[in-house]
Amino acid sequence: MRENKAQRHTSEKRSRCEINHLFGGAPCPKAGKEKVDSLLLCEKHALEVKLEGQIECWNEMLFHIDLWSKEATRRERPDVVELLQDQREQATSAIERAYEELNMLRRTDTSWRAWGT
Ligand SMILES: [Zn+2]
Repeated sequence: MRENKAQRHTSEKRSRCEINHLFGGAPCPKAGKEKVDSLLLCEKHALEVKLEGQIECWNEMLFHIDLWSKEATRRERPDVVELLQDQREQATSAIERAYEELNMLRRTDTSWRAWGT
């Protein structure tokens, strides 16, 4: 009688990053660290998803800023137009920063994948 206990890796029972749960494809090999929109994601993917969400929010804000600017112009309120212009610049640079971070994340992702064998 032999009892085979070799395959019991109870310590390895960490949950994996679930980034490809929705899309299929190769699963991310990293451990899940953070829950985002009900998916458990590793740090990098959580950050990626958050950045994308931020960009979307800022874009929506830009849309509204433009609407209000038009309205302010129509009502001849250059003070308000100027204020909105300020906000527009802030939103635009926030979007740019988020995109830069995203690009950086994705670049490191590719090189990281290239190392794996
Ligand atoms: Zn991941």
